[in-house]
Amino acid sequence: MKGLLTDQVDRFETARNKMVQVQIIDRGITDSLVLKAMRKVPRHLFVPEEYSNEAYDDNPLPIGYGQTISQPYIVAYMTEVVKPDSSKKALEIGTGSGYQAAILAEIVNKVYSVEIVPELARESAVRLKDLGYKNIMVKYGDGYTGWKENSPFDIILITAAAEQIPQPLVDQLAENGRLVIPIGAPAAVQELILLVKQNGKIEKKRLTFVRFVPFKRL
Ligand code: SAH
Repeated sequence: MKGLLTDQVDRFETARNKMVQVQIIDRGITDSLVLKAMRKVPRHLFVPEEYSNEAYDDNPLPIGYGQTISQPYIVAYMTEVVKPDSSKKALEIGTGSGYQAAILAEIVNKVYSVEIVPELARESAVRLKDLGYKNIMVKYGDGYTGWKENSPFDIILITAAAEQIPQPLVDQLAENGRLVIPIGAPAAVQELILLVKQNGKIEKKRLTFVRFVPFKRL
């Protein structure tokens, strides 16, 4: 006889595999490392309990403090765009629930993540530790200034929409590094921008239109 917990695990695993097929593969994400991570990370444990049945739906969800966990497709898309692999060191700005950090940590060597809401920084640090992630460091602070002591970063992924690209983050990007950021006014449609640093020069590419919570300053 199956226990309640096993049934639950099966239920969420079924929902998760369906999410990866319908929302991610069918929309063109092909990086096998990204797909593997999205199939593995238990997204329902990153949302408030009352939303766990909606955790694999095709939309963002509230995580408290006026913030949201991004839509699964957007997480997969941003992760694919920064070309993660096991040799890389990543910086995330906007830890939120810790879900994007966990997806990155499944693939890269080390993830540093900065969160400006102290409660979210604390909660996500505990959650990631409980889930066994040893290669993620979360700190509370204003991500505008990055995390200089651990720079340069091969990957910088910003999950809040800024009006301009913070220069300290560009400075902390490694040679051949990739930075992805939503740019635009808070209430407006924003554009996802990719920066690639090559021979010290920055190449800029416009990717797609998105909607993120605003980048705040302390
Ligand atoms: N990556 C998150 C998405 C969180 S939404 C996840 O997977 O759940 C964006 C987050 O960015 C919010 O938690 C918000 O508080 C945070 N944020 C906004 N401005 C910030 C800043 N300047 N520095 C660090 N975090 C910031």
